[in-house]
Amino acid sequence: MDYDVVIIGAGPAGTAAAHRLATHGLDVLLVDRTAFPRPKPCAGGLTLKSLALLPYSIASVLQRSTNDMTIGLRTGNGDFESQFSNGETICTFAVRQAFDQLNFKQATSIGADFRIAKAISEISVDEGGVRILADGKTIRTRYLIGADGANGVVRRLCAAEVPFFRGFALEGIVPYAQGIPAPHAEIYFGVVDHGYGWLFPKGDHFNVGIYTCDANVSLSKSRLRSYCRERLGTEHIEHMVGYPIGFGGDRYRPASGQVVLVGDAGGFAEPLLGEGLHNALKTGQEAAQAIVDIEAAGLPPHSLAAHFDNRIRHIRTDVRRCRRIAFRLFYPNLVRAGRRALDLPIAKPALLNGFAAGKTMREITNTFLWSALYKPARPQSLVEFEEHPHTLAA
Ligand SMILES: Cc1cc2nc3c(=O)[nH]c(=O)nc-3n(C[C@H](O)[C@H](O)[C@H](O)COP(=O)(O)OP(=O)(O)OC[C@H]3O[C@@H](n4cnc5c(N)ncnc54)[C@H](O)[C@@H]3O)c2cc1C
Repeated sequence: MDYDVVIIGAGPAGTAAAHRLATHGLDVLLVDRTAFPRPKPCAGGLTLKSLALLPYSIASVLQRSTNDMTIGLRTGNGDFESQFSNGETICTFAVRQAFDQLNFKQATSIGADFRIAKAISEISVDEGGVRILADGKTIRTRYLIGADGANGVVRRLCAAEVPFFRGFALEGIVPYAQGIPAPHAEIYFGVVDHGYGWLFPKGDHFNVGIYTCDANVSLSKSRLRSYCRERLGTEHIEHMVGYPIGFGGDRYRPASGQVVLVGDAGGFAEPLLGEGLHNALKTGQEAAQAIVDIEAAGLPPHSLAAHFDNRIRHIRTDVRRCRRIAFRLFYPNLVRAGRRALDLPIAKPALLNGFAAGKTMREITNTFLWSALYKPARPQSLVEFEEHPHTLAA
């Protein structure tokens, strides 16, 4: 056997798994189709619950934190805006390339091996383990974790029955300059069907984008330009790029005992806001922990699927809750449901306090009546960043 565990995809989900496995002394190989650092389309909005999952500080790659956000609502009868403000931090922002590079370094520096493979052409599973054909060479492993994102190959090669669907987001960069509004965070629902437009402030630029959870809605560069013109007064957007986001993880069940999918590959992003980083980190860690537990208990490798399934129940419930809110309640009734969420004296503080406390949507919706009692989260990355902010001058 070449490795205990092979992980295909070295994004947040893959590196989170690799870090946990290597910490426990397992032989791990991370495989990606590109070298690192590499760009990845993503707005880099890291909620406090995401920061809290990381076993090391990422303060060095955070560029901003915010305790307020403009939430807008586009209706047939004009726009409605509300300021969501809290004394506590509700979100932080990083550039994805730097975030991924840091995670990659953390995983490889504690012992995970790394290999580039341009083409994974075959995956087969038998009593002896998993055999992967990568760039014409065979890699043998006892466990395989598919962490290769929304367009991943592992799902296609060995988990055909996964009830997977895609959303889409298109983004670009607007450098701070004279005439561009001051850095601030914004989400504007209804700018596109079943989705929103966003402005996320970074060190020296806005990340601007549009998102939809509906696979039937197509997003165009001209739509992004017009949102950008409306909100920032310019159509000049650099590095415009789009990428799908993987959904459907609430119904995912591993098809094979010793192969599991994590992050966007398994459809674990949540469709309401398109937040994928938290569940990518979490499912990566849970897959790794399931393997660590199986090894410690001397159980056969094919028990991975059942152990992983058990460990991610709460994630599935959260993704299901977000899917139902997105497709049945919020986006189809945006004018009424959206106005309520912005206006109701209970909904707004519950969301604000929930985000500041690092809670999931399931936790917020289950306990919103007690939201005044939520304790703000202070993950190490945030504490270090706020003590020594290194934001570039606007
Ligand atoms: C424009 C945009 C903005 C977004 N903004 C946010 C945000 O602000 N906050 C948030 O929480 N989420 C956001 N998301 C969602 C988030 O980016 C994803 O949910 C997250 O990247 C999933 O992480 P992952 O590790 O599962 O997959 P990925 O980050 O996609 O990583 C997959 C890795 O697998 C590699 N790979 C792919 N195919 C292969 C292959 N065949 N062989 C080998 N390697 C392969 C890739 O190179 C990559 O390194 C956004 C998404 C988009 C598209």
